Amino acid sequence: MHSLTRLLTIIAANYPNATKTQLDEIERVYNFAEQAHQGQIRASGGDYIQHPLGTAEILAESKLPLPIVMAGLLHDVPEETKYTLDDIKKEFGADIAGMVEGITKVGHVKYRGVDRYVENLRKMFVAMADDIRVIIIKFADRLDNLQTLFALPANKQKRIALETLEIYTPIANRLGMGDLQGRLEDAAFKYANPEEYQWVDQLFKQRAPKKEKILDKMIELAQKTLAKEDIKILKIFGRRKKYYSLYRKLLKYDKNIGQIYDLIAARIIVDDIPTCYAAMGIIHAIWKPVRSRIKDYIAQQKPNGYQSLHTTIFGEDGEIIEFQIRTTEMDEQAELGIASHWQYKEKLPTSDKKVSWVEDLAKWMKNQQDKNFLEKIKIDIFQNRIFVFTPNGDVIDLPDGATPIDFAYHIHTGLGDQCGQALINNEIATLNCKLKNGDIVKIILDKNRKGPSAKWLDFVKTSTARHHILNYTKKTGWKKFLPLSK
Ligand code: MN
Repeated sequence: MHSLTRLLTIIAANYPNATKTQLDEIERVYNFAEQAHQGQIRASGGDYIQHPLGTAEILAESKLPLPIVMAGLLHDVPEETKYTLDDIKKEFGADIAGMVEGITKVGHVKYRGVDRYVENLRKMFVAMADDIRVIIIKFADRLDNLQTLFALPANKQKRIALETLEIYTPIANRLGMGDLQGRLEDAAFKYANPEEYQWVDQLFKQRAPKKEKILDKMIELAQKTLAKEDIKILKIFGRRKKYYSLYRKLLKYDKNIGQIYDLIAARIIVDDIPTCYAAMGIIHAIWKPVRSRIKDYIAQQKPNGYQSLHTTIFGEDGEIIEFQIRTTEMDEQAELGIASHWQYKEKLPTSDKKVSWVEDLAKWMKNQQDKNFLEKIKIDIFQNRIFVFTPNGDVIDLPDGATPIDFAYHIHTGLGDQCGQALINNEIATLNCKLKNGDIVKIILDKNRKGPSAKWLDFVKTSTARHHILNYTKKTGWKKFLPLSK
């Protein structure tokens, strides 16, 4: 059961700097929402207010700024009660009302044939582009709904669960919100693939207890040894792999759980980067590391910003165990992602509410009539990303397989339209070659070029480049020269 008391307890634990005024405001928002939803009952049986409360609790567990928690409490008011957005604006101000408006605009995403689905998806991205906080409230809303999914008919359960795994969690991943991503995935997995869920559950329960027992002993030894070597540890604990993540990994490794070394892992949190490496050295002195299983995501972070040291060691009793070593900031970045930068900020700067790739995508989607649109955006968001550099050292984030033309359009339309040659790491490269992580790319303009070539459509990867090339070809009437497919 959710309650105001429980919400305030979570806030007390997670917001050490919250003031009395802020806590009073939470209570005032709660009273308003409670009164607005008075008499409404959920499909699962409880009072309706349980749902906004559950949503707000998830947001507070993720340590999101309190105005987001308040918007979570109010998120269903305009749609489900007699109170309007104007009422919310009058009572609680434009910022909170703006977030609630965004959520109301996104609406309740429903699959009703592909078109409805695409339409809702488009709305979601447009709302996200205006204010990324909206999608985060949507995640919490969805997670709470998944937790009461048992009350709905089976076909609805499956639809909502699949949609969560296809749309919501890849976006959470892109925003680096590992904790919410994992919770959404596991809540949805149960309904989306019930048999596979049971299978993973059984495998986990066969193996995990023994590993956990051994890990507890190993953590004790690690703690003692690190202290003896004067290495300051902030936290050390065991963590269980989430089921959906385990499931995906099992599929990758021929369903062989013996190949999965991070079923249970030890996590060590320290103050700074030198201490991360020092701690890893000590761990390797206690237990032998497994060859080529040392991963330095501090020197080379993952595309979504994840940083950590991972090492797999031969532990006690022949158990192979992974250690993950990182600083507090890295840990918060991994769990909270984009939101980790918002902690303890009273007001977010506008720039924090916008994410450039989401904005680009939303702009492109606004004018999108294409039926294959879903496939195309999957390429943009859901694929792996690479990082390449401009000659000045600016980092450019592109989808895997992007070419110099994609790079050029990403920087500036003019640079794409007049792209003559590309230098990759100082060597001339073809315009259709695939860029690799870490490449330094320089575009040389061809002043005589009038515009993009229709041939580029055969290999460009990003929707931005495709959009600009098509636009140009439309304007200049080149369309008749285009291949009929596509
Ligand atoms: Mn809701």
